[in-house]
Amino acid sequence: MTEQLKMYIGGCWVGSKSGETFATINPATTEPIAYVPRGNASDIDMAVRAAQNAFEASEWRDIVPSERGRLLFKISQLIREQKNELAHLETLDTGKPLAQAQNDVEVAARYFEYYAGVADKILGETIPVRPEILNFTVREPLGVTAHIVPWNYPIQIASRSLAPALATGNTAVIKPAEDTPLTALRLAAICETVGIPPGVVNVVTGYGTEAGAALAAHPNIDHVTFTGSVTTGTFVMKAAAENIKPITLELGGKSPNIVFSDANLNEAAQWVVRSIIQNAGQTCSAGSRLLVERTIHESFVLKVSELMKQLRIGPGIDNSDIGPIISEKQLNRIESFINLAKQEGISVHLGGQRMKDAGNGFFFEPTILDSVSPNSRLAQEEIFGPVLAVLPFDTIEEALSLANSTEYGLVTGIWTSNLDKAHWLANRVRSGQVFINNYGAGGGVEMTFGGYRKSGFGREKGLEALKHYTQVKNIAVKIQI
Ligand code: NAD
Repeated sequence: MTEQLKMYIGGCWVGSKSGETFATINPATTEPIAYVPRGNASDIDMAVRAAQNAFEASEWRDIVPSERGRLLFKISQLIREQKNELAHLETLDTGKPLAQAQNDVEVAARYFEYYAGVADKILGETIPVRPEILNFTVREPLGVTAHIVPWNYPIQIASRSLAPALATGNTAVIKPAEDTPLTALRLAAICETVGIPPGVVNVVTGYGTEAGAALAAHPNIDHVTFTGSVTTGTFVMKAAAENIKPITLELGGKSPNIVFSDANLNEAAQWVVRSIIQNAGQTCSAGSRLLVERTIHESFVLKVSELMKQLRIGPGIDNSDIGPIISEKQLNRIESFINLAKQEGISVHLGGQRMKDAGNGFFFEPTILDSVSPNSRLAQEEIFGPVLAVLPFDTIEEALSLANSTEYGLVTGIWTSNLDKAHWLANRVRSGQVFINNYGAGGGVEMTFGGYRKSGFGREKGLEALKHYTQVKNIAVKIQI
């Protein structure tokens, strides 16, 4: 029988209070992998209370910061020790290629390693006021942090926010996506093994509208980190606003690769392909728009499509290049965009079909939509599949205007051998990250990440993230001089 898993609340492995469960499905086969508890508002309430108690208890509150760092370091070590097992589980649950899942697990380990090193370097300031006043600031943890995690990079995104939250002394309630709850539960087990005190880390599995909504609206949380869609992000922000809770939102994008004729075109083409097919296009920072100088438009699109034709599509467990889409719902959504392209008379240069010969799995061909109108929904909305929208441009001013023409602003890739041109654009594009002659800089746990405009606000990764998990207290002491 398929395994029945428990969730982790207050240091105990428990079922949901209602006793209900739901299946998590392998998107490559549509078979259930395991059943997890269907947590709802009362389970969330229990988890938040456990996290509150753990935050007040001296076992966590009074721990020496360097010791807190050591615990985080042990988490990173255990993640690495269990790398193959975790990657295997992530591939079954998300469908992503095994090599990608292994990379995700390594990045998760890196988050804990990176923030382990800063646990005893959360510094305040001394501020000169008057001779008889010693004035200083301390950075304190917020309390209970809520983490609502999407299905595209489950262990990586859970670790991205959990590691800085723990490094700064907070406690946490994690609500993984209903499609992919498995590695968050394993992460909780790792926290338990290394000796994170009970209640400091809690994982409640459940649906977004039940467990997720209850977590975002809980009056006793002190911060929400949400990654997912703009629509859900709006709900989460409204719920947090009711209780005046700070929030970090990462809501995806429609990120452009801007390719000039003077670029290293072979390298640019490889990265254009990689940035849209990684995780079958289900990546918030996917390079889903190609803005290409008109003089090389046809030849460059041909180069990109030749590379795409070589990709192996299949179950992630076979270490294909492109795995399945996460669910039937998402597959239908991608198809609806392709139907729209046909209605708008847009040329489907490559792909555009769900894979009929791939068994029951949710596979979709890598797709190029050529000469998309800048105002089309295909150039504006996040499709979240391996679908590249191509828009040619004549001048650098036009490239800039196209780059900034969506409501999003997460990442921009610029490809040119002229650094003056690259900097001119980098200074003017509205996005949280800009990559010149590369895309992603190899991962970047250390690099500040986050959105402009509807891509969200607040910054994750790097030292910048620490600001969101701490609050500053000013203390003034009168002294005899
Ligand atoms: P979603 O935003 O609804 O789900 C993300 C997380 O939010 C999940 O854990 C979910 O359970 C939870 N959630 C859902 N409804 C909630 C609510 N009312 N209150 C609190 N939490 C809630 O994403 P989705 O519907 O699974 O995917 C739809 C679209 O979202 C995708 O097509 C894509 O465009 C976007 N998306 C973006 C990212 C990203 O990394 N930026 C990740 C996943 C999905």
